[in-house]
Amino acid sequence: YVIYRAEVHSSEVERIAFERDLRIALEQDQFVLHYQPIVDSKNRRILGVEALVRWQHPERGLVPPLDFIPLAEATGLIVPLGAWVLREACTQTQKWRTNHPSLFKDFLLSVNVSARQLFGTQLQNDVVAALNESGLDPHHLVLEIVESQVMTDVHAALRQFAALKEIGVRIAIDDFGTGYSSLGYLQDLPVDFLKLDKSFTDNITESVKSQELMRTVAQLSRALSIATVAEGVETLEQADVLNTLDVNLCQGFYFARPIDAESLSRMLKRVRRLPEVVPVARGSAPAAGGSRIHLPVPKPARVAVPHLPN
Ligand code: C2E
Ligand code: MG
Ligand code: MG
Repeated sequence: YVIYRAEVHSSEVERIAFERDLRIALEQDQFVLHYQPIVDSKNRRILGVEALVRWQHPERGLVPPLDFIPLAEATGLIVPLGAWVLREACTQTQKWRTNHPSLFKDFLLSVNVSARQLFGTQLQNDVVAALNESGLDPHHLVLEIVESQVMTDVHAALRQFAALKEIGVRIAIDDFGTGYSSLGYLQDLPVDFLKLDKSFTDNITESVKSQELMRTVAQLSRALSIATVAEGVETLEQADVLNTLDVNLCQGFYFARPIDAESLSRMLKRVRRLPEVVPVARGSAPAAGGSRIHLPVPKPARVAVPHLPN
């Protein structure tokens, strides 16, 4: 007996059509990158951006990444797509650097990398090709890998991270705190940034426990020369609390949503701090001796000490 369910058939047909569309999209250049600013928690200057891919679908409109990245990973299409993201983001950032030399001395470009890329054979070549083609200095580039994906094979991740660090790029653990993980891996992995998951930011103004957790992670990270980034900052109150907890960087809709390259260029011309009318952080005095964040020196290549702009 074979049990036939019409819904299964139609969803399978839909999946196959989607996969075909994804291949066509790659051939026809239907992807675009949006960029979301990352700011210094203390003075709210823009220190970098995260590149976030979108699919400009001819019928469906702008498709968000979570609707197609899983399928791209399952089919392996994430490898050519990821290579395109790296090339496009590095090329765009190098253009911004040329147009705004002072702002971009220590600019950070974050690019998401999936497990399939990290554990595959292409990533180092793709990173080097993107840097060479664009002329971008490696210390500007940060590769973000989701914590749960790192934990699937910490030893393989360690080997890959070491090879990537040889190139001179930096590594961020994305969505930190969401999966099962052992903090012990932080002493072995050459990580430069921890991006603390939005779920922690969500509770930060109400929950003392969340605050203590964030403070402890920020302190631990600092002791290990790792910079911290709070994800999903949506309100001034959250930004203020995060500042008092010594989280180095913030990213979220309160400061800016992801926007296309042209809009970001306009923003960079107009503003150096976010939001445009800089809120005075309540209850937090300006940092003594300036507000430079000393981001970790790239290891082991030690390409450049990334002093951030004043
Ligand atoms: P992510 O790397 O953690 O990126 C942050 C996501 O949170 C983005 O969603 C961003 O728009 C959203 N976000 C930022 N600030 C806020 C906020 O204040 N509130 C809320 N509610 N959301 C905020 P997006 O662009 O939909 O991307 C989702 C995920 O898709 C990313 O999460 C990343 O894991 C993946 N992704 C995006 N671009 C790429 C890519 O080029 N390659 C790979 N492999 N994955 C990507
Ligand atoms: Mg990310
Ligand atoms: Mg994240």
